[in-house]
Parts: sequence; C-alpha cells; structure tokens
Amino acid sequence: MSIYSSTQQKIAEHLSHDEAVAVSKWTDWHWQLKHSITKIETFEKLLGVKFDDLERRKLDLTLKKFPLSITPYYLSLIDRSNFRNDPVFRQAFPDPQELEIDKCDMADPLAEDSDSPAPGITHRYPDRVLFHVSNVCAMYCRHCTRKRKVGDLDSIPDRDQIRLGLDYIRETTEVRDVLLSGGDPLMLNDAYLDWILTELRQIEHVQVVRIGSRMPVVLPYRITDELVGMLKKHQPLWLNTHFNHPREITSSSKKALHKLADAGIPLGNQSVLLAGINDCPRIIKSLVHKLVENRVRPYYLYQCDLSEGLSHFRTPVGKGVEIMESLIGHTSGFAVPTYVIDAPGGGGKIPLTPNYMISLSTNKVVLRNYEGVIATYKEPDSYKQIFCDRKCDGCDLHLMLEEGEEMDATGIEMLLSDYDETISLTPAGTQRMERRDEC
Ligand SMILES: *Cc1c(COP(=O)(O)O)cnc(C)c1O
Repeated sequence: MSIYSSTQQKIAEHLSHDEAVAVSKWTDWHWQLKHSITKIETFEKLLGVKFDDLERRKLDLTLKKFPLSITPYYLSLIDRSNFRNDPVFRQAFPDPQELEIDKCDMADPLAEDSDSPAPGITHRYPDRVLFHVSNVCAMYCRHCTRKRKVGDLDSIPDRDQIRLGLDYIRETTEVRDVLLSGGDPLMLNDAYLDWILTELRQIEHVQVVRIGSRMPVVLPYRITDELVGMLKKHQPLWLNTHFNHPREITSSSKKALHKLADAGIPLGNQSVLLAGINDCPRIIKSLVHKLVENRVRPYYLYQCDLSEGLSHFRTPVGKGVEIMESLIGHTSGFAVPTYVIDAPGGGGKIPLTPNYMISLSTNKVVLRNYEGVIATYKEPDSYKQIFCDRKCDGCDLHLMLEEGEEMDATGIEMLLSDYDETISLTPAGTQRMERRDEC
C-alpha cells in the first residue's frame, strides 16, 4: 500500500464506513466510480471545509446546469490548506462564474454537431474522424469543451448507435485514423471496448486507432493489467491523455502510464491553458518535463475554447505564445507541444508559434533563435525545380504509392501544387462575388 496516503485513507474510510474495506478497495476503479463525489456536502465533509449560505446557494445553481462528479482519488490530491487556489480543486469543483455566459460564448463552438454525418461521428479533416463512443467521464472537468453534453443521459450511445458509426467508417474509405473520444472511452468496460476495437481493426483502410482518455489523471486504477492486455491486441493503438498540471503526476498515475508504455502504446498529452491553473511558463515547463520522464509526448497545448461557462478559464492568446517562447529551444524538442486554437465554427486546429523568420530574399533567409541571435541561411544557388503532375513517370524520387492511396489536395496545399489549376480561394457570399453572379 505504498501509494496509499493518509489523506486517501481518511477519504476511503469516510466513504465506505469501514476501514478494512476501504483500504482493500481504494485501487479498485469500480469502487472509485461508485463512490464518486457528486454532492457539495460530501465534498465539505471530506475536505473539512464549509461554504457559507450565499456561496452554497450559488454553487447549487451552478450544479443544476453543470453537474459535479469527482473520483475519491482525484479529490485526495487537493491541498486542503489552500484549496481555493488548488489546481485540482479548480478543475473539479464548480465555480458560480460558470453561469456567466459571455457574449462570445457558444454551446458548440467547434460545430461538432454540424460536422456529424453519422451518430457519434465528427468528420472534419480529410482522413480522420472523431468517434464519440461514450458520453460519461470519471470526473467532470469544469473546463470541458463539451460541457453542453455532460451528464446528459439521453446522449449515451448504445450498441446500435455505435454500429451506425462503425458503418460510416466502413463506408468512408478515406478514413485512415479513428479517434475514440467521448466522454471517456475508458468508461466502457473492457469487453465492450474490445468489441469496438475489434470491429475497427477489421476495416482495412483504418490504419491507426487513437483513444483520448483522462483516466491516467483522474482514475489511474482504471489502467488494469486486463485492460492493457486487451488494448495490446489492437496495435497500432495510440493513447492521448490530459494532464494540465505537474501536481497531477503522482505515483499512481505514473504506474498507469508505465503500464501503457510497456505495452507498446505510444502516449501523448493534450493540455488546456487555464487561467489560474497552469497559465505560467514555469508550470508548463515542469509539466512537460515530468511527462517526457514518464514516456508521454506533449502533443497539444490548447487555447481554451469558446464553450459556454468557460470564460473565467480563458487566457489571452499572448499567454500561450509567451509559454511557447519559453519552451522552444530552451528544452528538448520532443517536450514541446504544439499550441493550437480549435477554430470556432469548425475550422479545426490552427497552430500558433512565435515568429522565427524575420525576413527573406531570393538569396537568403534571416532568422532569429530563442536567445535572440539573428542568423542567416543562404538559399541554394541551384535547385532543380520539381514540377509535379502527380504521375511520377518523369520523376526521380521514389514515392511508389500503391494505387488509390492519395487524396486530392485541398486548401493552401492545392494552391501550392502544380497539378491543380486553382489560383485563389475566395469566400462565397461577399458583395463582390454577388455582383459577379449578377453579370
Ligand atoms: C482534434 C481533432 C482531430 C484530430 O486532429 P489531429 O490534429 O490529427 O490530432 C480529428 N477530428 C476532430 C473533429 C478533432 O477535433
């Protein structure tokens, strides 16, 4: 029981009214879920705090709109002596500010519901889809971008609905990457998840499957040997988790990560930049260092979305760029995530980096590095231009694609290509375009 702290012991005893049971059950993920804290009173008792009447009324109103659920494990990480500023508390406990809807807030800022050709599927990018296989989570993150759906029992997908999603993927041959999301896919039991993964693996054009799960953070005991043994059968399988603060990396979460990594499952992490929680270059640097130490590759750092009830969590974009400036060059390249804004309206993720290119001529590029050194890079004097007609016949490069492996270029890639005649992308519906239509 080395990973079992005295705080955890107290919480477990309180929840199960029996010391012996508590100690033996703490690392049982079913026990943890069954004893998730959903009421303010329980929270008060376990943390030894009391909210005054006014605050209590506001909290109750907040819970009516956005429910509360925390695993005993995640709650045990809260520092009681300064709980209001605690990063775990702030991610898990409701804040009446969630009810303040900003003018710019939207229920579905990423237009996931509109880009949904089949139940549970969001198909936004050419070659990959998001597949929502679960609507529930072990912990309700207060900063959830899909807050509109949390705790909404009507939208729990059943087997028939999952089958419709699988049908879509089966019929859509350009889909080579499927992201299981939700909710948390690891809320499904092993057999059910095994069924979904088996079905996906039988689809020839699906090359990789990814799971997005916050279990290693909020309920690391979910990563059992049985689960890992099952996941291992479905390689290549990637898993992205969601650590936001170095404090979340505990001996229990490390154990979960090591099990997954030992099973050959590449691990990534997606953090969200959150005001008052991790909006500090030093906190993010400490987080990414701890992640790589545990074989997790920092993948994305998200600008907080425009979902309803998140305005108090948002930072200016400048904060994210400042953080990136403190990482790039200063630390290992593979410890640096990509900072992205998921574009409101469904434009997908847009990367943001500090500017490193100062200027260029046909002869030289002028760059600056992280220290402020200004350097020049001499362009080659002779470069044999490759004009690509996509036929490969007259080309010396060894692409050697199998038939039908490539899709047509879209967007800026299309404008840059030699084989497409398009010379501009013009927004539809402008007055100028309407005048053209008239003549
Ligand atoms: C994030 C996301 C993906 C995956 O994007 P990657 O950049 O490949 O990780 C796919 N579909 C949707 C709708 C997404 O939001």
